[in-house]
Amino acid sequence: MRTSALVLFSGGQDSATCLAWALDRFDAVETVGFDYGQRHKVELDCRERFRTRLREQFPAWAERLGEDHLLDLGLLGRISDTALTAEKRIEFESSGLPNTFVPGRNLMFFTLAAALAYRRGLKVLVGGMCETDYSGYPDCRDDTLKSLQITLNLGLNTRLVVETPLMWIDKAQTWALARQLGGDGLVRLIRDETHTCYMGDHHSLHDWGYGCGECPACDLRRKGYEAFAGEMVAA
Ligand code: ZN
Repeated sequence: MRTSALVLFSGGQDSATCLAWALDRFDAVETVGFDYGQRHKVELDCRERFRTRLREQFPAWAERLGEDHLLDLGLLGRISDTALTAEKRIEFESSGLPNTFVPGRNLMFFTLAAALAYRRGLKVLVGGMCETDYSGYPDCRDDTLKSLQITLNLGLNTRLVVETPLMWIDKAQTWALARQLGGDGLVRLIRDETHTCYMGDHHSLHDWGYGCGECPACDLRRKGYEAFAGEMVAA
């Protein structure tokens, strides 16, 4: 039987690694991205470039990589007021969450992905959420997503499976997973063709990829890559 998956692919490091993970496992893989009025479109621009390079460099995966879907979620940007969608400084709020938190984002993403998967006949939803991130977004937690899987299946009368391969690993281990899946070629591709920086800086190139080097997302990415590269040297 043909296995199939829909990957929530933003153009960042985590979802790019998840895309490779899915291509390694499933016969047919499609991708979905969401334009919710992110302040910087750089991440979205990375999506098609990454998919193209992936096809060129990994012919076995090219056969499995199907359609890409980009959904307009401008509504989400209009009802939320966060540092990802408005010109604001990134800071922590009284809730203890950073103001980069977009309330309901992943709930909405998975609900729309499930609707799309339903229509396309895809059985597995793959997302790059993880509990080890500094930010502690409640909609990235394992319990949230397990409960959402149940809700979606009840509401759609389906047996979709939500997979989150990065849930319990840190950023260094995410690089190691990429290496395990696609060798140094995939590590380089993810480093050079994905975008994580909250400030939208895609000009300054560091060992760990593009970014301002100052924002929390860059900080996390840099530390993860340095830990990964350090382990490579030690090994
Ligand atoms: Zn940055």
